[in-house]
Amino acid sequence: MTHTSTNRKLRTALFPGSFNPFTLGHADIVNRGLQLFDRIIIGVGVNRDKAEADVEKIIAPIRHLYAGNDAVEVRPYSCLTVDFATECCAATILRGVRSMKDFEYERDMADINRQLSGIETVILFSRPEYSAVSSSVVRELKSFGRDVTEFLP
Ligand code: ADP
Repeated sequence: MTHTSTNRKLRTALFPGSFNPFTLGHADIVNRGLQLFDRIIIGVGVNRDKAEADVEKIIAPIRHLYAGNDAVEVRPYSCLTVDFATECCAATILRGVRSMKDFEYERDMADINRQLSGIETVILFSRPEYSAVSSSVVRELKSFGRDVTEFLP
């Protein structure tokens, strides 16, 4: 078998989530994931009923963040995650875990996704400094008029 850069299969992972908003914790998973994969597709799961403008509000800052990085692509999707992974030619799903609560949920999702499609999930544990950072906390603080920039990349 030859190993040239032209015929080597790119290892692509899909990092799916709501990313509403995309936090420092998410960015850390992407950065660390790039040590393991050649390409990461950040799949922003959106409800079909969501207005185009609302989807854009989530996606635009993430696209802006990775604008100079060819290894990262940001795409919205509204189908089953494993179907989107197949569409993206991603053989792996990448996820992050902050706590035991996340762990139980992620394990169930990984099991179901493997059963459905054979696609494996790679889990990265969050850095301790980001383990309390969540999109829902950021949204809540924002709703009370608090500055949330310290949680965002
Ligand atoms: P979902 O709604 O699918 O859980 P999220 O946008 O909340 O999507 O999260 C996407 C992924 O990122 C999940 O695997 C989640 O556990 C992980 N994640 C969220 N916040 C952090 C963080 N601070 N550190 C590491 N991983 C995180």
